[in-house]
Amino acid sequence: MFTSISGRSVLVTGGTKGIGKGLAAGFAAEGARVVITGRDEELGKRTAAELTAAGGTVWYAAGDVSDPASCAAAVAAARERHGGLDVLCCNAGVFPAAPLGEMTAAQLDEVLSVNLKGTIFAVQAALPSLQESGHGRVIVTSSITGPVTGFVGWTAYGASKAGQLGFIRSAALEFAPSGITINAILPGNIATEGLDGMGPDYLRSMEAAIPMRHLGSVADIANAALFFASDEAAYITGQTLVIDGGQIIPESLEAMG
Ligand code: NAP
Repeated sequence: MFTSISGRSVLVTGGTKGIGKGLAAGFAAEGARVVITGRDEELGKRTAAELTAAGGTVWYAAGDVSDPASCAAAVAAARERHGGLDVLCCNAGVFPAAPLGEMTAAQLDEVLSVNLKGTIFAVQAALPSLQESGHGRVIVTSSITGPVTGFVGWTAYGASKAGQLGFIRSAALEFAPSGITINAILPGNIATEGLDGMGPDYLRSMEAAIPMRHLGSVADIANAALFFASDEAAYITGQTLVIDGGQIIPESLEAMG
């Protein structure tokens, strides 16, 4: 149904675990050539080796998105490995909780630097390559938290995730003449390694708030990203897609019946 994206060059920031690893696996399974970044070098190399052993073409490049020079180096690594860059997935993110009354300036800086400024730095670094590509795509991993919902302790996180959406709308206008699209995915609660230690009670309480009664998978997110990256999605830009099993719909727990 869709034109193949086999052979396209894809850079996934924060691709060493969780949703980013799922994005890398999804693109690699479709024959794209992928570079993943993250700060933990050992984990990055391990993840790239695992995805390569599963049949993909996946390399790791060390990268901290809060540093523009590091974003430039990651893009250069993708260009060197794969001769260009067609798709950028801005996925790296942190989510430390801190009640507003206790939040320090340093904590706020960290969240905004990685989640919001890191998205902008990565896009800036990739822009010349995406312009060269002829089918440049940017896919931002935002969240329902901030753009649509709230959560006690996550004011900074929510602001960073809502900020990403403000960014993509104006970026979409700047990019439209060159045919580059930029869209955002808003995941609900997705099962990742990070949840492993949270215990069964926590998982049950999350599932109770989801009409489909189960968490999403990283593949659910990757499938949407593959669509945004496709040739068939070339006329979609500046848009958002919630992927949450219906979580944002009910007015209350009773509304779910
Ligand atoms: P995760 O498992 O903790 O993975 C985060 C990834 O980002 C890791 O690869 C991490 O590697 C990397 N990263 C963190 N800071 C970085 C930095 N400064 N520079 C480069 N890479 C960095 O988290 P996740 O749950 O998969 O979340 C991924 C994205 O999805 C985030 O943007 C998050 O806000 C969003 N999201 C997640 C959910 C969910 O339910 N999981 C829901 C909504 C939105 P290093 O730490 O080694 O750098």
